[in-house]
Amino acid sequence: MESKTASISGSKKISLKPKNVRSSAYVKRLKVALTKQKVNSNSAHQRTPLSAPQRKTKERASIASDARQRLESARFRYLNEELYTKSSSEAWELFQEDPQSFDIYHKGFKNQVLKWPVNPLDIIITDLMKGPRNWVIADFGCGEAQIANTIPNKVHSFDLVAANDKVTACDMASVPLATKAVDVVVFCLSLMGSNIHDFLKEANRVLKIGGTLYVAEVESRCSNINDFLKTIERFGFQLKENNVQKYFFLAKFSKIQNMSPKATMPRIYLKPCLYKKR
Ligand code: SAH
Repeated sequence: MESKTASISGSKKISLKPKNVRSSAYVKRLKVALTKQKVNSNSAHQRTPLSAPQRKTKERASIASDARQRLESARFRYLNEELYTKSSSEAWELFQEDPQSFDIYHKGFKNQVLKWPVNPLDIIITDLMKGPRNWVIADFGCGEAQIANTIPNKVHSFDLVAANDKVTACDMASVPLATKAVDVVVFCLSLMGSNIHDFLKEANRVLKIGGTLYVAEVESRCSNINDFLKTIERFGFQLKENNVQKYFFLAKFSKIQNMSPKATMPRIYLKPCLYKKR
């Protein structure tokens, strides 16, 4: 009878009979042969032990990588605390002096948000996708400009450092946009600094009447979320929705009133969101 051959991982060939005449003994032999090949291929690299110098090199590389990670993590925690506790003009100075520290900050920030079951930015993007294509959006404290990179609308992305060419570097207390120029303003986890009132006043200035303001913040930063949302309303907004998730809340407001540039606005203090040393 004619027999066929099958090759597993390009190694030893096993004889196969046509399908309809496979006996149970034959199938058993085939299984044993397959298992042996698997065991052999798994143990192939375990069998080659590292030489003493190779082990030393591997150890050194691992110590260096651990030290690098610890340093980056400490630098992230320092920058994070500075951003939350200093004024935005001081934060601007900090990153002007050392723009590379922005990459370290963002690497640390991304690692933190990845641990959350949901990223508020994804919810905002999904919501914006449902809105009209001609809405102009301003992303205040955009990080890597994910909104601009995802949705087809015109998006102005602002941050202290331009992480890519979609981003305009500026302090969001004063953005390079005309008054009533946009339909949407987004603050996604970006109400940092001791002058949050300046950011909200600027959002009011650039938004059209009836425009939408999104604010996503870490829940633990507020002693009382409702009080915080009520204070935002005093900047000429009306609360439309608030969605509380694990770790953060996401509120959506409508702009109902223009604020005079001279108006004295209430000060807003949120607790800094400090990350523990790991
Ligand atoms: N919105 C992005 C990034 C959040 S991290 C996201 O959700 O992925 C917070 C960002 O706010 C940081 O990139 C930080 O640099 C920025 N930020 C904080 N204060 C700012 C200010 N005064 N002006 C511009 N950006 C600011």
